[in-house]
Amino acid sequence: MSFSDLGISASLVQTVTKLGYSLPTPIQQQAIPHILCGRDIFGCAQTGTGKTASFLLPMIDILQGRRAKARMPRAIILEPTRELAAQVLENFNDYSLNESLKVALLVGGESLSDQEKLLDKGVDVLIATPGRLLDLFERGRILLADLKLIVIDEADRMLDMGFIPDVNRLIAQLPKIRQTLLFSATMPDEIKKLANSYLTNPKEIIISPSDRTATTVTQHIVNVTFKEKRFIARFLLRQYKPTSSIIFCNRKRDVDVLTDSLKRHGFHAATLHGDMTQTMRNQTLDEFKQGKLAILVASDVAARGLDVDGLSLVINFDVPINAEDYVHRIGRTGRAGNQGTAVTLVTDKEQKLLTAVEDLIKEKISVLDLKIEPKPQAKDKEKTVKAPKPPRAPKPVQKKVAVPKEEIPTVEAAASPEVAQAIVVPQPPRNNTSRFTKNSKSRDFVPREIFKKGSEEVIGFGDFVPAFMLKEPAKIPVEASE
Ligand code: AMP
Repeated sequence: MSFSDLGISASLVQTVTKLGYSLPTPIQQQAIPHILCGRDIFGCAQTGTGKTASFLLPMIDILQGRRAKARMPRAIILEPTRELAAQVLENFNDYSLNESLKVALLVGGESLSDQEKLLDKGVDVLIATPGRLLDLFERGRILLADLKLIVIDEADRMLDMGFIPDVNRLIAQLPKIRQTLLFSATMPDEIKKLANSYLTNPKEIIISPSDRTATTVTQHIVNVTFKEKRFIARFLLRQYKPTSSIIFCNRKRDVDVLTDSLKRHGFHAATLHGDMTQTMRNQTLDEFKQGKLAILVASDVAARGLDVDGLSLVINFDVPINAEDYVHRIGRTGRAGNQGTAVTLVTDKEQKLLTAVEDLIKEKISVLDLKIEPKPQAKDKEKTVKAPKPPRAPKPVQKKVAVPKEEIPTVEAAASPEVAQAIVVPQPPRNNTSRFTKNSKSRDFVPREIFKKGSEEVIGFGDFVPAFMLKEPAKIPVEASE
């Protein structure tokens, strides 16, 4: 089946052909003809399947040829995150290149007044996150009376993120006669209930998770301890040498820590998570999409639905807590017919989460044998990579021992591990008495080395220094450091 068989206009067929789409994907084949006929859709599909074009192409076809009215959109697309909304806008602009439709992106974190001005000029399509859309509606900036079509995309994520009450309030304001398209990557009971309340006699389309992942993404796990994770992540990056790669962490804190660590090891990495300002998120995403940034270390919220050309490696630094997120994460690679690899690092504690993932995708993920010779734990210690700092031996001596200025060991002398150790921790001898004074029974031992000046030994008390002489630490360091 070709695009022209689907019923979309000749100009849209031309546009997608120019974009390099030779054949419609399964979801496009199944959804587009029904949407063009005005039917509601209940689609189980995730990003990466061509889902966005499956609703945008018929939507553009339906809306084209009529003029936009001020504040009265004719179609709304709801997305759970700003990044997804921005991505759908990109797709919309690509597909509507030859049409005269106006579109606005209404997401939090951007100027309200700019968005209000756009609405006043008249837009056909709003691509929005629920909170911002509701906000503008309640301020009277949007009139929904002329709305023909609404898309609720990533409904399961909306549910996870607590947006469903907002969606319910919006739906209650819409005209009863409208077309509703609901897409969700998974179909838990709550989503089925929502579908029942929002949709009228929908066409159900299911693109199963195993269909989605098996063909283009090679999946592996690596069994690790928590301490080995950073080392293994670097090892994988060096091994696969991806031009573009995402590493997912469950916690924002780990996103930051891992990014810093990768940078220290010479990788070109940046962070993407929900605590960043919208400007920073946009900037990082743009750099990543343009290939200016090689590695994105991200949390689930910020990276869902990302579509980046040539992204060939996904590393799950942690097994995701929600099994469905695994499908989303690895769906960042192997897109649009390209091949990709997804490697998940699994600790003993994460085995249960892995089982949940394997149950969901109905597949046992193969273990990757990395054949690493050296012990990763020892190598992974950041300090071992840095050049050793010169020992700061004189300071502890000055504080602990009242040694006359000329008798303080030189830095070179203190650099000897034996001396340095003796200076910092003067402990009583156990078996080997040779490093300490022979006759001393006091606990205040001072190692013999400290009292050496060149090769001469100090004369007077001999090697023994009484405790009271060791007590005035304050003055000595000032003199000694001059
Ligand atoms: P989506 O699932 O909508 O996020 O789309 C995933 C990727 O597939 C995007 O980069 C689209 O540009 C691309 N795509 C969508 N439909 C097709 C198609 N029929 N042929 C080739 N690529 C496509």
